[in-house]
Amino acid sequence: MATKTTKKTTTKSKSPTKMVYYFGKIKTDGNAKQKLLLGGKGANLADMTSIGLPVPAGFTCTTECCDQYYKQGRKLPAGLMDQVHAAVKTLEKENGKEFGSNTDPLLVSVRSGAAQSMPGMMDTVLNLGLNDESVVGLANATGNERFAYDAYRRLLNMYGDVVMGVDHHAFEAEFDKIKKSQGVKLDTDVDAAGLIKLCDAYKNVIKKHAGMPFPQDAMKQLELGITAVFKSWMVPRAIRYRQINEMIGLLGTAVNVQTMVYGNMGDDCGTGVAFTRNPSTGENKFYGEFLVNAQGEDVVAGIRTPQPCEEMAKTWKSKSDKNIGKKIHAELMNIKKVLEKHYKDVQDIEFTIEKGKFYMLQTRNGKRTGAAAVKIACDMVKEKLIDEKTAVKRIPAGDLTQLLLPSFDPKAKARATPLVVGLPASPGAAFGKLAFTAEEAVERTHAGEKVLLVRKETSPEDVDGMHSAAGILTSTGGMTSHAAVVARGWGKCCVAGAGAVHIDEKKKKITVNGKTYGTKDVLSIDGSTGEVFAGEIGRIEPKLSGDFATVMKWADKYRKLKVRTNADSPADAKRARDFGAEGIGLCRTEHMFFEGERITAMREMILAENVGDREAALKKLLPYQRKDFIGIFTAMKGLPVTVRLLDPPLHEFLPHDAKGQAEVAKVLKVSPAKVKSRVAALHEANPMLGHRGCRLSITYPEILTMQVTAIVEAAIACKAKKIDAIPEIMIPLVGTKKELSILRAKAEQTIADVKAAKKFKGKLDITIGTMIEIPRAALTADLIAQDADFFSFGTNDLTQMTFGYSRDDVNSFLPDYINHEILEKDPFQSLDTTGVGQLVAMGVDKGRQTKPKLKVGICGEHGGDPASIRFCHTVGLDYVSCSPFRVPIARLAAAQAALV
Ligand code: PEP
Ligand code: MG
Repeated sequence: MATKTTKKTTTKSKSPTKMVYYFGKIKTDGNAKQKLLLGGKGANLADMTSIGLPVPAGFTCTTECCDQYYKQGRKLPAGLMDQVHAAVKTLEKENGKEFGSNTDPLLVSVRSGAAQSMPGMMDTVLNLGLNDESVVGLANATGNERFAYDAYRRLLNMYGDVVMGVDHHAFEAEFDKIKKSQGVKLDTDVDAAGLIKLCDAYKNVIKKHAGMPFPQDAMKQLELGITAVFKSWMVPRAIRYRQINEMIGLLGTAVNVQTMVYGNMGDDCGTGVAFTRNPSTGENKFYGEFLVNAQGEDVVAGIRTPQPCEEMAKTWKSKSDKNIGKKIHAELMNIKKVLEKHYKDVQDIEFTIEKGKFYMLQTRNGKRTGAAAVKIACDMVKEKLIDEKTAVKRIPAGDLTQLLLPSFDPKAKARATPLVVGLPASPGAAFGKLAFTAEEAVERTHAGEKVLLVRKETSPEDVDGMHSAAGILTSTGGMTSHAAVVARGWGKCCVAGAGAVHIDEKKKKITVNGKTYGTKDVLSIDGSTGEVFAGEIGRIEPKLSGDFATVMKWADKYRKLKVRTNADSPADAKRARDFGAEGIGLCRTEHMFFEGERITAMREMILAENVGDREAALKKLLPYQRKDFIGIFTAMKGLPVTVRLLDPPLHEFLPHDAKGQAEVAKVLKVSPAKVKSRVAALHEANPMLGHRGCRLSITYPEILTMQVTAIVEAAIACKAKKIDAIPEIMIPLVGTKKELSILRAKAEQTIADVKAAKKFKGKLDITIGTMIEIPRAALTADLIAQDADFFSFGTNDLTQMTFGYSRDDVNSFLPDYINHEILEKDPFQSLDTTGVGQLVAMGVDKGRQTKPKLKVGICGEHGGDPASIRFCHTVGLDYVSCSPFRVPIARLAAAQAALV
């Protein structure tokens, strides 16, 4: 898939006037509401500073600057660096240190930060401001030469990689040489002399690979650093992340320049990341990890496995302060309270401790699993932090799927012994064959395989493979490592930090406790416990918590749309009813013709050469249909069931290969040649535009008669058993009023005939409606409504026919269309409100011009998509209908639409 690397064409546009927002004790320009302008990180840094939290001072270059950077052909907007200079002056005043000074210099970090968080996708440079001379100054000022050169080598490495485009392997190779020469394994064991040598080696690497030396001028470093962060907005992984997460309409990234604080100056320093509540379960318990004597990226990159914060008080003692862990832990607990009270949501924070002093580097609303979102919302209502409506609005409706996901069957699991137990990084249960690279995971998933992506640690480059894979397994990294955060955000099952898994990416195999597994072997991973098993373990349906029921109750209170389900078996109907479906909006009857003896009778009907033979075959199908309808009406008793008459082209039921045709011929006692010629006769160049839907019943009215007879007989049979059956007959693929009026008359006649034959005198209000799924039907909905008791928008076909895209083959070009931003998203998943939506709105309006009370719903796939549901609410639909598992999502999304 080609990836777009440029943004828009160059246009002349004016630089915004205020491009830099300062935050610190001297002044704070921004506030929490300015996320679009300052990015989430920048707005919150300003806000935390304002409420008195210990934030190192700094400034934010706005997202408008990033927008201008691209609009002006990848150039920093005029005047930006002047404002940066002024802000640096204020920063120097605030810190009492000079940027670029050779004695005790002020150092800064340069970090990205878009309006919506994109963890790890864009670039960061730390320790900016160091050079060959100021490193000596830093060593003298801190009395710690090793620390100073460690900071310098980190800058050279990051700057070389991010700003100057040097491959980081070149740096790693040099580091390995030094470690080898000193006979040590860990970075932390290399002494000051080794690091001084390393810095020289790194400078040579930069010169050789970038063709120019590392810039010694601090201000130049800063300018290029800011530019590099703007550039990183358009790197392929960031573009892909925004596509996957449907992040549309953002201006770009902001750049945060902030005073450096150090977590790596000794044993009274440290760094950590934490959530104010457990982001996997939602439990109201501080949940974080820290490393003593480390910089922030050591925690998130998963290089060293960090310790849980709850152990901090007990385990962290420094030479100068035995109680340091206890004090910092108490500080964290206070921060949790302050932040939750202020932001009224769970926060995901980054902190650093420099020589015993605590600093907040970041806070943002924490990403959480669906289960955690539900629990946190309910708990926060109980704690009076938020009200019911806020709780309903806050839970991402799509994330409810995760609560409805299967887990491993405990009995099957009890029989299996875990190969290894890693960290339970993102809940769920997944199994698959092993894939060793992101590309491999994508390719094999596309080819129809279920794969687990197995990596030592995931990097942002792996985002596509992580998204495709059924689950993710890593051998290093903690609960807050990149893999864990990203997987949790998507509700993808992930086990991280399974240290006993030794991965050989080249040979495509892993070794665990002496056993080897390759690309053909299946492993199962439990993201809720961290267990990894060999083979496939059976899974079971989830049980829903009381909090889930509470959220559903709140949602039902506020929504206006009714929610039905698409189901064509009693089991699906029951499941959907348990999930709160208020009826069936689409029962696809063709699904009932595929099994066992039914397909034989169906084929007999299709092969029939005259009405008599066709009716004889249909008579065999009638009892099956009646039985199915009785089952479904019983499961949905008291609720409406929309039964759609046969829709697909008949040749879908016939075998197309010689062997299959010979078998059918034998069963039906006809010659294979006859089957072959009938299959050939039914062949269509464009079957989806062919002899299907209502067109079948126009040509073969006896099909309609059989189906309507089965519906009416089933309803009468239910009534006899005091089961309140409420069938609705739906005629598909209507494009003209005449089609519907002919078939409606035929259906009404059949209803009357069956009632008479059964001598049924009771009440049987069977309504007759149609699907609006052909553009012409929407355009002439006023006429069609004359013969319809209800409309249901079949947006799958309506999208297909409005765009002219084959819904079955669209993937041959759709990824390119998304990539080139021709389309924002797949229109078969989320309704194209601009185009197809117009037809829906028009269909509703025109239909109700004829019949003001016309009941109107939707039963295409869009009926379970939150964004489409919002649209359905806006255009005044009465109900949405979706697959059983999406019913809770639709209930919540409908409430959210009503609460906007
Ligand atoms: C539709 O077209 O939206 C629809 C629900 O019908 P089907 O998907 O069965 O064609
Ligand atoms: Mg359809």
